[in-house]
Amino acid sequence: MNQQQNLEYINKMWDDSIIPALQKYIQIPNKSPHFDHDWKKNGYMDQAVELIANWCHDNAIPGMKLDVVQLENRTPVIFMELPGDSDETILLYGHLDKQPEMAGWDPDLHPWKPVLRGDKLYGRGAADDGYAAFASLTAIKSLHEQNIKRARCVILIEACEESGSYDLPFYIDALKERIGSPSLVICLDSGCGNYDQLWMTTSLRGLAGGVLTIEVLKQGIHSGSGSGIAPSCFRILRQLLNRIENELTGDIILTDLHTNIPEQRIQQAKQAASVLDKSVYDDLPFVDYVQPESTSISELILRRTWKPALSVIGIDGMPSIENAGNVTLPKLSVKLSMRLPPSCDAEAANKKLHDTLVSNPPHDAKITFTSGDTGSGWNAPELEMWLSESASKASQRYFGKDAVYMGEGGSIPFMGMLGKKFPKAQFVITGVLGPASNAHGPNEFLHIPMGKKLTACVAEIIADHFNR
Ligand SMILES: [Zn+2]
Repeated sequence: MNQQQNLEYINKMWDDSIIPALQKYIQIPNKSPHFDHDWKKNGYMDQAVELIANWCHDNAIPGMKLDVVQLENRTPVIFMELPGDSDETILLYGHLDKQPEMAGWDPDLHPWKPVLRGDKLYGRGAADDGYAAFASLTAIKSLHEQNIKRARCVILIEACEESGSYDLPFYIDALKERIGSPSLVICLDSGCGNYDQLWMTTSLRGLAGGVLTIEVLKQGIHSGSGSGIAPSCFRILRQLLNRIENELTGDIILTDLHTNIPEQRIQQAKQAASVLDKSVYDDLPFVDYVQPESTSISELILRRTWKPALSVIGIDGMPSIENAGNVTLPKLSVKLSMRLPPSCDAEAANKKLHDTLVSNPPHDAKITFTSGDTGSGWNAPELEMWLSESASKASQRYFGKDAVYMGEGGSIPFMGMLGKKFPKAQFVITGVLGPASNAHGPNEFLHIPMGKKLTACVAEIIADHFNR
């Protein structure tokens, strides 16, 4: 492959076509079904599907088949088949549904307003994960331009990822014959530690959690009558959380939620720590003088990728401060989100959480725990030599630095499903979600040079897969 030609072609595609398309895509508020229960009626998802499917159609290579597949009462998927020069299959995956708006955007930015500023395209969903469809097809197109041989490719773009991909298993079933048995999976929905090299995701955490509700009174009462007699739901909440988390360190106490960390992953965390150094926490928007949970960088990386961690992400039953009178509260609900180690069984973890929280209720309070999104994580199978060499070469060619291997703290439910279904497949899980890109939060941006170089690397790896 002529690397210069590859990069020039890809850069031009991004500048002339992908960025304008992403600017239109950002304007569509196609929130994932969890965040827009009326998604079907509102029609935004269909708009996003149409935009991406039309772009892919206009940029099709000869022989390519594109279908928008929609099973009844399910979110749609875009499915593309691109015949190749061997019987082997490469599956490229991405998603087009988005996280909700979230507060805190800068005054001149907005989730549904594309703002191009320097190297960055701001707006919801371009980096997570709208660009994936465009980049996947462009990488294959670049190979086509140079007449480079490759395996048959299928591109699958779903619309339910931010809701836990609950529709996807039905499509994997429905499209079984057409997907085939991929020997390589490429997923462009992950993160990168910096924008200076290729980052290969070696693991993803799983997710457990749900809504914990504590009820003590039939209604709220004057705290002059209630406090001192009626137990405080907030104090009971503190007790219950202390059963699962050490309140001083943030360590999760439940041993069932921990797994052994493989030695290779510990070594890779040390290498990643030497590349990233303090940026592991400096890149987070800490308030002045706030300290991270450990002073060791590699320990912070392991805490984020191989250890369970609890976030309390929502609360009901507590008035806003503006409306807070002196009242003994009757009932409190919190939503718990527990990230799990890659090889931890999420169903078992959720059962453990449930049993721990509802057993022996303090003061015999009425306590319920309703499980929410649950999904096991993923740990990459051992990397084959050709792929490790290919990633290294691609990173050197397009970034001038070696590839780095690191786990991610987030989840991509589909990877767990694929790992189980195709245990022999190799995985390239990478992405543009680097420092400050802030997917799911305010001021999300896509780092355009990263997107371009990553696309070039994907083309390189697809070519190497054929020649291995
Ligand atoms: Zn995503």
